[in-house]
Amino acid sequence: MRVINHYVENVINYWFLRIYKIFYIFLVYNKYLTYFCIKYKKMKTILLDIDYTLFCETTPRPHLKEFLDNLVNRYGYENIYFYTAANHLRITEVCRIILDLNIDKKLISHLNNYSLFGGNCSMQEFKKNDGSIIEYKSIKKASEVLNIPYDNIVLLDDAPSYDHPEKNMVIQAEGFNGLLNDDYLKRLIL
Ligand SMILES: [Mg+2]
Repeated sequence: MRVINHYVENVINYWFLRIYKIFYIFLVYNKYLTYFCIKYKKMKTILLDIDYTLFCETTPRPHLKEFLDNLVNRYGYENIYFYTAANHLRITEVCRIILDLNIDKKLISHLNNYSLFGGNCSMQEFKKNDGSIIEYKSIKKASEVLNIPYDNIVLLDDAPSYDHPEKNMVIQAEGFNGLLNDDYLKRLIL
């Protein structure tokens, strides 16, 4: 009887350890697995500048709702983030404004919780050939903070992209100064 008990105990221990190991490996590599799945599927992640790209102070750019709805349909709300040099209060402020535009609540909540701002993804400095220093929104840093493959990211920003070190990944937006007949976002959808 003792021998049988011992045998059963060994079998249980063996399978327990195996399952535990598999579970552990799954947990550790899940992060990398997600990373490679995103890379393999070539899913795009869109970073959206706030000031003078989507808003002018508290005025949303015309056609903002159509534009965001279109992005959600194309890329899924989980792949859309704000990226602002300002602090998180600015993100909360614009999220309140888009609540009134009847935009997908999941998107608003995602933007409010996971967007990039000065506190979690600060601007980077870049020294140009002429010795002058510019500050820019770093896609490389954003990729590290969000744990998303670098080459799947696109940034829409009104800041001049001609001297941006990662300019190939920036869509240079026309600046928005609050004019209500502005149709840039509508043209972007088409
Ligand atoms: Mg801007």
